[in-house]
Amino acid sequence: MITATPIPILSDNYAWLLRCTATGATAIVDPAEVAPVAAAIDAAGGRLDLILLTHHHGDHIAGTDDIRARYGAKVVGAKADAHRLPKLDQAVAAGDTVQLGACSAQVMETPGHTRGHISFYFADGGVLLPGDTLFSLGCGRLLEGNAAEMFTSLAQFAALPGDTLVCCGHEYTESNARFAVHADPANADLAAYAAQVKAKRAAGQFTLPSKLADELACNPFLRADTVAVLADLRSRKDKF
Ligand SMILES: [Zn+2]
Repeated sequence: MITATPIPILSDNYAWLLRCTATGATAIVDPAEVAPVAAAIDAAGGRLDLILLTHHHGDHIAGTDDIRARYGAKVVGAKADAHRLPKLDQAVAAGDTVQLGACSAQVMETPGHTRGHISFYFADGGVLLPGDTLFSLGCGRLLEGNAAEMFTSLAQFAALPGDTLVCCGHEYTESNARFAVHADPANADLAAYAAQVKAKRAAGQFTLPSKLADELACNPFLRADTVAVLADLRSRKDKF
């Protein structure tokens, strides 16, 4: 199975270190900063098989070429965005699989934040890497895509098993919680979850990965039942 460990980088990003427990094969997701990512890889034994990229933004890809050169890893990213990603060894699209040791990830096309955004889902271990499409208690800004695309992307995540671990690209949970409680004040599950998030951050702890079941109960963007509701939430959050 796959285990996923967050590596805090830049101001509020996470790169994710993935390991296939059966084989020791290792991958890093969105290595935008070299030193902390290399330290985590070295601490895990110094092996790196794959670099997985969710989208082209600098705060997700900036360290890719240095990490590739240092460890000889293969780079996987969206075929549709190959022109604006580091050189890809494996260019992927919806429905493709990416093999990491004995485990495989399903590639999901999840536009909304950017046009070519992809997410990776490892069923064995239940690990979802949604990049900047889904955040805990939030979703990505619609920088290139529209609300209809984001709605379809979030619906793909919502269909995964409830115990899926959601490994997002940013630690935005506490500020997302403030808007979520404002948008859905009657949601008791959300109120309780927001209190836990606040306590974790006050103690200097990560709020990720989160459980998909908690997001389905608490995240207003994932709970939006129409494109219009999602579009309204997103525009209100942008001004919040
Ligand atoms: Zn982004």
